[in-house]
Amino acid sequence: MPTKKAAAMPAADKSIQIVIGGAGGFIGGHLTRYFVNKGFTKVRAIDKKPLPEWYQRVPGVECLCLDLSIEKNCRRAVEGATEVYQLAADMGGMGFIERFRIECLRSVLINTHMIESAYRAGCARYFYSSSACVYNTDLQKDPNVRALKESDAYPAMSERGYGWEKLISEMFCQEYWAERGMKTFIARFHNAYGPWGTWEGGREKAPAALCRKIIKAIDDGSRTIQIWGDGTRTRSFMYIDDCVKGIDGITHCEELIATPINLGTSELVTVNELVSIIEKISGVPIKRKYDLSAPQGVHGRNSDNTMIQKVLGWEPDTPLRVGLKKTYDWIKDQYYLKKAGKRTID
Ligand code: NAD
Repeated sequence: MPTKKAAAMPAADKSIQIVIGGAGGFIGGHLTRYFVNKGFTKVRAIDKKPLPEWYQRVPGVECLCLDLSIEKNCRRAVEGATEVYQLAADMGGMGFIERFRIECLRSVLINTHMIESAYRAGCARYFYSSSACVYNTDLQKDPNVRALKESDAYPAMSERGYGWEKLISEMFCQEYWAERGMKTFIARFHNAYGPWGTWEGGREKAPAALCRKIIKAIDDGSRTIQIWGDGTRTRSFMYIDDCVKGIDGITHCEELIATPINLGTSELVTVNELVSIIEKISGVPIKRKYDLSAPQGVHGRNSDNTMIQKVLGWEPDTPLRVGLKKTYDWIKDQYYLKKAGKRTID
């Protein structure tokens, strides 16, 4: 982690037991690979998906298929853990979180059982993956939003379902530190994207969905895509390598114990600009149709990175066109493998 403060930290003991919840998913899969690449030898990866459906299975990692909404499974998952990274959640892009609020709310079962089990197991550091969806929706009604700073979550008016669940799970983390002394760390992710993530099926987010639509439009010759909304909504998008570096930096920073912090880029783009970048990567001009009845989420959302710059001396900085090129190439491979009836992902 190229941070001023992290650089000064003593070298970590590479034989500690690391546990990653949601490791069959996008961010959890990358985080697993990140720790193994850093030389950690005892990494346990957990997901409820059957193993063949995991986006990444990293050699040398103990992979367990467990439903973490069940308490006894959480106890098993965190046995002997020094560090727990909790990324398991029933979630997806805007289409999913607007339609399946109950599923999103039920992730509170995972978060209550995981944190209690980690505490009982004597875990030294507990990381929780929160979201920018905790922020007060009243502050996000204009595409030219001011970036959201950490204090903007209260007074609370989060995204219904998904956002409120994240907010209450953040509070669990804060109280496990305040009342029981377990060190907890909370990052509010702003739209992460990259290869080895969901790109079809209804849970994918805007960057992956737009890559897939453009690849398909070129393949079927229509050269036309449908965009959800009128294309003017704004967001920022963080490349996955920045996301995992940030998780590591945050979890090993004493100043950030029980303190939610933004983890995202501050490069704000409209959906139309996002499409233009992907169109340029594809090398083919694409016609755009707008579906005004589709789910769109808040009008604008950006990450205020003052706090992360101050505390870690770093912020996610991979340019969108660089990260999108890698994402586009990976999704294109997956698309054509699937079309040819070949196995995708691994
Ligand atoms: P993902 O859907 O790819 O991964 C989540 C994983 O959790 C999935 O593999 C799923 O099978 C697993 N899971 C769900 N319920 C489970 C259960 N009961 N037991 C065990 N595993 C279970 O999502 P992701 O993009 O990797 O997100 C990881 C975390 O980051 C989530 O908490 C998510 O809410 C948060 N987050 C992600 C983003 C983003 O842009 N990707 C933004 C904000 C917050």
